[in-house]
Amino acid sequence: MRDRASVVIVGGGVVGASIAYHLAVRGLTDVVVVERFGLASGSTGRSAGGVRQQFSTEANCRMSLLSTEKLLRFPAEVGWDPRFHQVGYLFLLSRESDWQAFQRNVELQRRLGLDVDLLSPHAAQAMVSPVVVDDLLGATFCGTDGHADPTQVCLGYATQARERGVEVLSGAAVTDISVGASGVEAVQTDAGRLSTPLVVDAAGPWAAEVAHMAGVEVPIRPYRRQLYYVEDVSMIPRSSPMVVDFASSMYFRPEGPGLLLGMTDRSEPSSFNMDTDEEFLAMLIENAVRRVPALERARVVRGWAGLYDVTPDANPVLGPVPGLRGFLMAAGFSGHGFMHSPATGQLVAEMIIDGCAHTIDVSPFSIERFTSGAPAREQTVI
Ligand SMILES: Cc1cc2nc3c(=O)[nH]c(=O)nc-3n(C[C@H](O)[C@H](O)[C@H](O)COP(=O)(O)OP(=O)(O)OC[C@H]3O[C@@H](n4cnc5c(N)ncnc54)[C@H](O)[C@@H]3O)c2cc1C
Repeated sequence: MRDRASVVIVGGGVVGASIAYHLAVRGLTDVVVVERFGLASGSTGRSAGGVRQQFSTEANCRMSLLSTEKLLRFPAEVGWDPRFHQVGYLFLLSRESDWQAFQRNVELQRRLGLDVDLLSPHAAQAMVSPVVVDDLLGATFCGTDGHADPTQVCLGYATQARERGVEVLSGAAVTDISVGASGVEAVQTDAGRLSTPLVVDAAGPWAAEVAHMAGVEVPIRPYRRQLYYVEDVSMIPRSSPMVVDFASSMYFRPEGPGLLLGMTDRSEPSSFNMDTDEEFLAMLIENAVRRVPALERARVVRGWAGLYDVTPDANPVLGPVPGLRGFLMAAGFSGHGFMHSPATGQLVAEMIIDGCAHTIDVSPFSIERFTSGAPAREQTVI
């Protein structure tokens, strides 16, 4: 293990790997990624892999537009198959307030160049016929949304970064960050000390703990999310989009011969719990069968849980920390960290190499928004 680096990235998930890759492509290769377990072992390897551009704020739409472009170019640029399938996202809307909000979102999305449709309940049912639409007010659909494989994207970025000279230190946990009068000085790991003037906190749900080591308090909290793989679902076409029943948050999408089925239990408190539980599964099935009665015949094959890294306004914390030289945050993605990882890598590389992010205005994601009182909450959260 080397004892110094120009940049140390804490976290070998898709966000850390994307940052390492984008730095290396720009010629900055004196970089170490420190990962306490293995690449993609955190939220990245437990994600549903959804990639959507339908958001309620301009900054998130732009993050998605750039990331989608980059995923399309991924095979040519990174030489790896991200397994990106643009099957679309279909949001089903049954509450008046959601329907009004989504119509406003579509205006914003179209202004930014996104091809997105407002659909009648009947038109939504024509897309996925077993879906019950009696209670719907409408739906939105974007055909260039879809899903990709988070582990593949993480490994693709990490492999290319390594080939350019970046070191990925797996099985080493960061235990402390030394800060002197002029800023960050070193990272202590359980495998040794790394002197560095620049640390990027890409530790996902553990990002607040890592920030705390540098004396930074950031409101990023872990929340459990459970996901199930079910089979015997021939009633759902293989070409089905990702379907989101927005009121209940239940969603599903094709995966191999079956479906990935998930939902958010909005009453669950923050914790690092990563167990699945029967009570949640019963609630998930109840909601899934209410929307698609034929899913009653589906067979649950397996389930797992992971963590969202959630902020109070459901937006990430991206960029420098005022008053602390040499510390950058790239976490708090609130369930959108995979889909926004390609753009995040590029933007953090711009911050480090060019002094600021210039492709997208990421000022809404600055840590200062929590004290300036001007956060704009992302409304389209699953
Ligand atoms: C069930 C589920 C479904 C999801 N679905 C979607 C989806 O459809 N679309 C989407 O965009 N996002 C989705 N997400 C969210 C997405 O998975 C995350 O936003 C994304 O993976 C975050 O990547 P990351 O690299 O920031 O974090 P992680 O992948 O969690 O990586 C952080 C890494 O930091 C390491 N680490 C932590 N502390 C230390 C330390 N002290 N020292 C060294 N290493 C450390 C951890 O081991 C971990 O590997 C989902 C998440 C879950 C759980």
